[in-house]
Amino acid sequence: MKDDCIFCKLAGHVFETNIIYEDDDFTVILDANPATRGHALILPKEHYADLYEIPDELLKKAASLAKKIVSELTEKLGADGYNIVQNNGEKAGQTVFHFHIHLIPRYENDGQLIGWKPGKPGDDELKALADKIRL
Ligand code: 5GP
Ligand code: ZN
Repeated sequence: MKDDCIFCKLAGHVFETNIIYEDDDFTVILDANPATRGHALILPKEHYADLYEIPDELLKKAASLAKKIVSELTEKLGADGYNIVQNNGEKAGQTVFHFHIHLIPRYENDGQLIGWKPGKPGDDELKALADKIRL
């Protein structure tokens, strides 16, 4: 556990919070400032700052867990869909530097904006970029 990390303390029961699921690897809590009703956070119990740090095996488990929770809660909450959001880095909107996955239920007319302004690159520009970054 990282001493100054709020999510370590929430995942490890040092501070009380609203837990909706728990297993050996993860604690899933309700976000304190939810985008919509039922907005939850998957927190690994071990401290990893972000996607770059979390080991692949644990990440696979987190993805499976996201699927399980979204599948079960869509009906329970009466949601019409789900956004799964995972921020890495301050410029990408990360504010708590303990890896977490946002599970955000969506409802008709919920008024939330989770997205981006679409760009309009030319075909040549996109091709050049693909050529430059292809792995
Ligand atoms: P980020 O911006 O890092 O992707 O998301 C951090 C999220 O953690 C935010 O949605 C914020 O509302 C939530 N959060 C921050 N502190 C607490 C807390 O003490 N308790 C809970 N339940 N959520 C928190
Ligand atoms: Zn932590």
